[in-house]
Amino acid sequence: MAEKARFWTYDPTNIFARILRGEIPNKTVIETSHTLAFHDIHPQAPVHVLVIPKGPYVDFAHFAAEAPAEEIVDFHRACARVCEAVAVNEDGFRIISNSGSHGHQDVPHFHLHILGGRPLGPMLAR
Ligand code: 5GP
Repeated sequence: MAEKARFWTYDPTNIFARILRGEIPNKTVIETSHTLAFHDIHPQAPVHVLVIPKGPYVDFAHFAAEAPAEEIVDFHRACARVCEAVAVNEDGFRIISNSGSHGHQDVPHFHLHILGGRPLGPMLAR
């Protein structure tokens, strides 16, 4: 079966684009040439870090489909470095990417949430 082509429209006024342009401050955990990781403004756990690519990708599917391999590798290695930096490797952590309306994605710039620092309970509230 042929795959349906998807098109994404990136909104450059979103809050993470503004953070990347330096218009809004952030508490940076690490930064690489392709990736920025910073503390969430409303943390939902003792550790709550957002990791974003610097490129203009709307969501997970957009990033996976259109980012060059170098950016995808850099992004995932940066996530691993964040886990080291915020010391969640030993006790564990959770990585979440919300997408679209069912995923309750608020900011339309692809990001992962890295959560930890306490037992996080079941994956979803029932
Ligand atoms: P989403 O629901 O899109 O997956 O998550 C967006 C996240 O961005 C939320 O956890 C929210 O607290 C965080 N956020 C929204 N605005 C800002 C901001 O200006 N600075 C930071 N550091 N985090 C933000």
